[in-house]
Amino acid sequence: MSSSKEKNKRILVVDDETDVLEFLRIYLETMGWEVTAAPTVDQAFEELAARAYFLVITDIAMPEMDGYEFINEVRARGDLCQIAVMTGFGYNPKHTLVKINKTMKFPCLFKPFDTGKVMDAVNGAHESYHSDIS
Ligand SMILES: [Mg+2]
Repeated sequence: MSSSKEKNKRILVVDDETDVLEFLRIYLETMGWEVTAAPTVDQAFEELAARAYFLVITDIAMPEMDGYEFINEVRARGDLCQIAVMTGFGYNPKHTLVKINKTMKFPCLFKPFDTGKVMDAVNGAHESYHSDIS
């Protein structure tokens, strides 16, 4: 796992639903980002070990490990990527996820995606990741 930063345009998308992976890969590539899609957390860890990504966008509900456990593991391994989470639960102000989102330091994207919010999250992450490297 990469514990040092490197200037890059790479985004790793992690989701057990392949249609979501495909949508985000095509959309983000169209916007000029370099995208890798990982359908399992094991593949995501392999990717993170192989190269630096400025951003990981992870699903919350996944079969092997949920998104929060995945993020904790990414951090435990020392990766310095920015993180965004996504969920298909939809926006509900009473939902635990929305409450959690208010205390989390990373953006939460609700499916179906508002592409403007996706771009804001990606641009913000790119800026934050690169703020202390040149
Ligand atoms: Mg899922």
